[in-house]
Amino acid sequence: MTSDDPVVGVLSIQGDVREHINALGAAGARAVPVGSADQLVDIDGLVIPGGESTTMSKLALRDGLMEPLRAARRAGMPMFGSCAGMIMLADRVEDARPDQETVGGIDMTVRRNAFGRQVDSFELEVPVAALGEEPFPAVFIRAPWVEGVGEDVEILATVPRGGRDGTIVAVRQGGLVATAFHPELTGDSRVHEYFVSMVRQTQVRKRE
Ligand code: GLN
Repeated sequence: MTSDDPVVGVLSIQGDVREHINALGAAGARAVPVGSADQLVDIDGLVIPGGESTTMSKLALRDGLMEPLRAARRAGMPMFGSCAGMIMLADRVEDARPDQETVGGIDMTVRRNAFGRQVDSFELEVPVAALGEEPFPAVFIRAPWVEGVGEDVEILATVPRGGRDGTIVAVRQGGLVATAFHPELTGDSRVHEYFVSMVRQTQVRKRE
């Protein structure tokens, strides 16, 4: 770790924060928990962890974090959301609670708990071209899937589950990345490395 390494926050109102902090450290970032709006100014990028998107939404609204998160996203802060974090970055959510809000930013419709009861958790080797040839060991826990995306959204990964060949489980739109699975639980740091390198590129552009 050097002082040039980007500072990446992990939204720490709810969910598996510590695992992301460790994975970001392994991927060459200085990782810090972020639990209040004033901490957003000190970071170069943000991870929104898995957990429970309805609870996360409720607490973000209660603690006055939702609007600052949206403002940071609109200002171009790179963000990576896994599972519940993917839901938080979606512009539209199916099976949301009526009062559930999101940070938004990715032009996609995400369905909560989409894989159903029988397979509510599973692990799958998922090919992700952006990460290299080796498939990624993806852990899905009561995961959402992506029902549909707008034309500016790049599809990073699909799985042959959910009654179709190509169910979308990872996407990117500009500086926003989302996975339906939990890369922080596998010891494979390639998704975090991919995100940290996006954050570095944004830093370089800001300095120029
Ligand atoms: N089912 C959860 C939700 O809707 C997401 C699960 C997870 O993050 N592991 O928020």
